Amino acid sequence: MSETAPDCIFCKIVAGEVPADVLGRSDHALSIKDLNPQAPFHALVIPVEHHDNAAASAAADPASIGHLVVLADEVARDSGNADYRLVVNTGAGVGQTVFHTHVHVLGGSAHLSERL
Ligand code: 5GP
Ligand code: ZN
Repeated sequence: MSETAPDCIFCKIVAGEVPADVLGRSDHALSIKDLNPQAPFHALVIPVEHHDNAAASAAADPASIGHLVVLADEVARDSGNADYRLVVNTGAGVGQTVFHTHVHVLGGSAHLSERL
């Protein structure tokens, strides 16, 4: 529930300590290519501020989720994917593996994805 969390891979990417393919950024969030894409276009949108999941981010600041959607739309359109899916996993039981809030942006044949 702090601004950054030790040993969080997405906090390290936001801080520039771990490299990533950056697709876009705003004052509130960073968008990167997913390391293991599940669709022809697969980006992640990550808030700068660390919370474990989207509900925790929303509880701290409801607008934080809106900021993620705005950047998701921007990077999807910039990559020629005006139609896209947003996926937000909450909890290990549905496959959340990184416990720093993030939105998956899936474009192309995203409906064929097996994992998301
Ligand atoms: P989750 O399963 O938690 O919803 O999604 C986590 C996503 O983060 C996965 O799709 C995984 O491929 C991606 N991911 C995990 N570690 C890294 C990393 O170090 N760099 C990038 N670009 N993506 C990562
Ligand atoms: Zn983090």
